[in-house]
Amino acid sequence: MVGLLFTVFSCRARESAARDGRIDLPAVLEAVAQTRASGETPVAVFDLDATLFDNSPRTRRLLEEAAQVDPTLTPYTEHIRKLPQQLPYRVDDSLTLAGITDRDARKRFKAYWSARFFTDDYCIYDIPIPGAVDLVNTLHDAGATIVYLTSRGEDRMKAGTIESLRQNGFPIMKSTAVLIMKPTIRGKDTTYKEIAAKNIKNIGKVLITAENESQNANIFAENWPEATHFYLNTTCNPKKIVPLHDSIIKIDDFSQK
Ligand SMILES: [Mg+2]
Repeated sequence: MVGLLFTVFSCRARESAARDGRIDLPAVLEAVAQTRASGETPVAVFDLDATLFDNSPRTRRLLEEAAQVDPTLTPYTEHIRKLPQQLPYRVDDSLTLAGITDRDARKRFKAYWSARFFTDDYCIYDIPIPGAVDLVNTLHDAGATIVYLTSRGEDRMKAGTIESLRQNGFPIMKSTAVLIMKPTIRGKDTTYKEIAAKNIKNIGKVLITAENESQNANIFAENWPEATHFYLNTTCNPKKIVPLHDSIIKIDDFSQK
């Protein structure tokens, strides 16, 4: 009976979960309360890059640094400075946006970027997506276990990821705020997230997920059909776009305004 009631509630919550392109927080919190009342652990699953965090400042920092330390790139300092706040998914596209066409310069920028982007030292430059810190804390305070499910490699980014979450005010390093990372950046993200989803089922009942990659969002929708799933209209890998599952709700960010 409780299960049936919850299913009905989940459907209602999903219908109203993103009116006007934003999350209906009361509906989500009600689902958390219902789940706790049924004796289960409510779980919220969040991807990190381009979901809870905007990676643009990380890329911008690296391009600025490259222009500082490599004399052949210094003439491009002003090009980098004029880049918009939101940068594309691929560094190649950021260089094009900056108007940098010289092949050797592009190669040097990309080499500097790729040697450092996926490291502890630079992920601390990411900034939270609007509303992300408030939403995650509100869910955590309401009794939900937060799972950060990221494809970042544990070998090169664990310390930086934990520090970035901590510095930005996300709950972390608690039994109720768990970080799941890939052992290394190598390997298919979808395979990793499929396996992780099976393991997360042991933590509790997943009520809400958020992702910026359509393939991963679909994996969540398939694994947790009763949950509310959000797809972030931020940036994503242009080579991996697939049609989204019907139940997934598109949002620009997590703001409640
Ligand atoms: Mg992502």
